[in-house]
Amino acid sequence: MSATDTQGKQTLEFQAEVKKLLDIVIHSIYTDKEVFVRELVSNASDALEKMRHEALTLDDWFDKHVPLEISIDVNKDAKTITITDTGIGMTGEEMVANLGTIAHSGTKEFLQRLGEAKAQESQLIGQFGVGFYSAFMVAKTVTVQSRSWRQDAQGGEWVSDGSGTYTITHADGIRRGTRIIIELKDDAAEFADADRIRSIIERYSNFVPFPILVDMEKVNTVQALWTRSKSQVKDEEYKEFYKFIANSDDEPLYHLHLSADAPIQLNSVLFCPRDNFERMGFGHTDPGVNLYCRKVLITQHCKDILPDYLRFVKGVVDSEDIPLSISRETMQDSLLMGKLKKFLTKRFLGYLLDESKKDAAKYGEFWKSFAMFIKEGCHTDFENRETLAKLLRFSSSKTEADGVTGLEEYAGRMKEGQTAIYYMSGPSRDAVESSPYLEAFRSRDIEVLYLHDPVDDFVLTNMQEFDGKKLISADLADLELPGEPAKAEEKEEKRLSTEEVTSLTDWMKEVLGDRVSKVEESKRLVDSPAVLVSSLGMMTTTMERYIKASGKEMGFTPPKVLEINSSHPLIRKLAELHRTSKVGADEAMLRDCVEQIADNAFIAAGLLADPKKLVDRMYKIMEQALGR
Ligand code: ADP
Ligand code: MG
Repeated sequence: MSATDTQGKQTLEFQAEVKKLLDIVIHSIYTDKEVFVRELVSNASDALEKMRHEALTLDDWFDKHVPLEISIDVNKDAKTITITDTGIGMTGEEMVANLGTIAHSGTKEFLQRLGEAKAQESQLIGQFGVGFYSAFMVAKTVTVQSRSWRQDAQGGEWVSDGSGTYTITHADGIRRGTRIIIELKDDAAEFADADRIRSIIERYSNFVPFPILVDMEKVNTVQALWTRSKSQVKDEEYKEFYKFIANSDDEPLYHLHLSADAPIQLNSVLFCPRDNFERMGFGHTDPGVNLYCRKVLITQHCKDILPDYLRFVKGVVDSEDIPLSISRETMQDSLLMGKLKKFLTKRFLGYLLDESKKDAAKYGEFWKSFAMFIKEGCHTDFENRETLAKLLRFSSSKTEADGVTGLEEYAGRMKEGQTAIYYMSGPSRDAVESSPYLEAFRSRDIEVLYLHDPVDDFVLTNMQEFDGKKLISADLADLELPGEPAKAEEKEEKRLSTEEVTSLTDWMKEVLGDRVSKVEESKRLVDSPAVLVSSLGMMTTTMERYIKASGKEMGFTPPKVLEINSSHPLIRKLAELHRTSKVGADEAMLRDCVEQIADNAFIAAGLLADPKKLVDRMYKIMEQALGR
C-alpha cells in the first residue's frame, strides 16, 4: 500500500512483521537502550566494508575521493544524534526493501524466539540487538538519508516515527553513504551527549575497523588484533592490547593467539595475567573473555566461553557463527557455544602444557599464582583431566627446597618395579620429611611428592591414577614398595621372632582397645618405633586430619593400624619386659608406654585429640624413669 503526494513523497506501510517488531521495541522496558548505537555503528561498518570490497574491482564510483569513515554528532538543544557513514549507501528501492521489511535472519530469529519465550523480550533485544529498528527504542522520529555508490543512482530520504508507516522522498545533494538522524524521545535525551556516546563506542565498537569520529575526534583507537595473522603482531602490540582489554597496568604472562574454521569459525586472543587477584583476597574473579561477532561486542565477560575454573583468563573471542543463534536463556544449552567452549578449553590447556615444557621456570611463575585454578579444574573438568593432571606441580623428595616437579617428570624417574606414584601431605617440607612415613621411601630411594596445600590431597585422592599408575598416599597401610631398604640385613638380625611379634601386638591391641583397629609389624619403618597408617584407601590419616580441621563431622572413625618397628630398641625392650613381667607396678608402666607410643604416632599423623592425658602420662613416666 502506498500513497504519493505532489512533491513525490511516498507513504508506505511497514511489513506486518516489522510492525510487530516495532511495537515491541517501542514499548519494551529494556534498560540497556544504548545498544542502538552499537547496532547503527555496526550497520555503518558493514556498509563501509561492502564499499571497500566493491572498490577492489571498480575503476570509478560515486564520491570516490570520500574517505571511509563513520562520524557521530550530537545536538543537546535539538536532542538529536546523527550517525553518518560513507559506505555503499542505499537507493530508494533498497531503503524500502531493507528498512521496511525483515529480510535478514537475525531479526527473523528474534521474532521466532519471541514466540517461544514471551517473557524475555527485553533481554532478547539486548542479545540480538534487533538491528536498525533498535533506533526506535530512543527515537521520536528516525530520518535516513542515503545515496548509493552507483554513479547513476539518486539520493533519497526515509522518515518514520515507528508507528506503522514511513515516507520516502527523493533528495538531492547527498554525499555517498548513509546518514541516520534520530530525534530523541524526552526520556532518552541523555544520548545527545558526546561523552556518553564516546563511552558507548569504547564499550561495544572499539574494534570497528573504520575510524569513528565523535565531534570530529577519533574514538576507536585500538585495533582488533585478533583478526591479524600471528606473524604480523609484535609482542609490544599484544601487551598494549592486553592492557586495554584487561583494563590493567601489568603485562600478561602468556598469550595465545588462535584462528580456526572448524569446528567453528573463530579468531581469538587469550591472555594469562601475571597476578591472581582472587588469591590475593579480592573475591571470586569475573570471567574475563569477551565475545565478539565481526569486531562488535556481543557479550562482555562471557560466562559460557570457558569453564569457570579458567575465569582468570582474559581476552576476546570473535566468531561469525555465533550471534544469530544465541540468547542468554539458551546459551548454556546452545550446541554452538558448547563447541566453542570445548574447543577453546582444550586449546588453552594444551597451550599451557606446551609452555610448561618449553620454559619450566616461567611456568613455575604461573603455578605460583594460578595453581588453585588448575586444581579446581582437576576436580570439575573430567574431560580435560589428563592435561590438567600434567599441569599440576608439587615439591618432592627429589626437588630443591623451593623447586617443583610434575607427575610426568615423576613417572620418568620411577624406580624399576615401582608401579605407583607416592605422595605425603604436611604443612611444610620439614614436617613431611621428619614424619615416620617417609622412612621406608628414603631407605629405598623412592621419590615422594610433598603436598603442602590441603586441597592437593583431595585432588590426588580423587584422581586415583595418572597414566596408569596409582596415586598412593604414603600413610596408607599395606604398602608394597619395590626394592630392599638400605642396611636391611644388618637390621634383620635384631628383629623379633614371629611369635614374639604376635604376642606383643596382641597385647598392645588389648591395651589400646578401640583406639586402633589393629597392631601389626611394619615393613616400612627404619628409625621410628611406630607409625599410624590408614587401612581405608580413600580415608588416609591426612584426609581425616583435614576433615577434622575443617570442623566437619566425620560421622565415623576411620580404621587405623598401628605399625610397630620390631627392630627398634624401644619395641624390643618392650617385648622383653612384657614377656618377663609379673603383675604390679611394672605392668602399669608398660601399659603407659604402649599408650605413649600410640599417642606419639597419633601426633605424627596430626590426629591427637586429647593432649591432657598425654601430658599427665608423660610426667608419670618421667617420674618413674628418674626415680630409678
Ligand atoms: P542486519 O544488519 O542484521 O542486516 P539491520 O536491521 O541492522 O539488519 O539492517 C537491515 C539492512 O538495512 C541491512 O542489512 C542493510 O542492507 C541496510 N542498512 C542498514 N544500515 C545501513 C547503512 N548505514 N548503510 C547501508 N545499508 C544499511
Ligand atoms: Mg545490523
